[in-house]
Amino acid sequence: MNIQNLSVLDEEHICPTCKTIMSCCEVPPVHVGDGLGWGSEVLFICLNNDCPTFRNGWDKVDVEYGHKASFRNMQLPGSTEENVMMVASELAFTGSIIDPKEMREQNERYMAEKKALAALETCLQDKDITPVMTLILDEAANISSRQQAIDLLIEFNDLSCIDAIRNHTFNKTDLEQKCKLIISQLLKDNFKKECPHCAELIKAQAKKCMHCNTDL
Ligand SMILES: [Zn+2]
Ligand SMILES: [Zn+2]
Repeated sequence: MNIQNLSVLDEEHICPTCKTIMSCCEVPPVHVGDGLGWGSEVLFICLNNDCPTFRNGWDKVDVEYGHKASFRNMQLPGSTEENVMMVASELAFTGSIIDPKEMREQNERYMAEKKALAALETCLQDKDITPVMTLILDEAANISSRQQAIDLLIEFNDLSCIDAIRNHTFNKTDLEQKCKLIISQLLKDNFKKECPHCAELIKAQAKKCMHCNTDL
């Protein structure tokens, strides 16, 4: 999930009944036909099971509506208006709690991916390999974007990409394989090889590594 308006993550809502901090929860997908849209991506809900609103709600609902449910105090972002919403179980909404820190990180990653993808077309002219590497090394990025980035490596002909790729753990073996092939090609194009002992780049025809002195 990506929240459009990140400022809601800075909000703190205190339950008017039990005075504990309300949890920021993702709004459950609602059927448009139900007319239940909240006009918000998140809701602040008091998930304290000792909150009187929740604790006393079961009897109230039973008496008034004759079914098993209770209430949770709820507030919309940017508002301190007191609302309650009916919940059928103690667990309702506990699976959709948003961790503001995690959400910010997720958003940051997503924005970085978007920015890198936008720069991909012009990065060769700009001689800027950063967007290419951002996409290749981002395991959460879109696969075809990453593939597109890998395809640009040969044209960049920049051996500095090798270390970053070798030190990265790929979840997708096909991407890793593709990168390995490209590294071999780059080394070949530049008459280089990697020392099998210290991994430093050396001349393809070297008999001795200039970095670790190993005979090859
Ligand atoms: Zn409460
Ligand atoms: Zn060496």
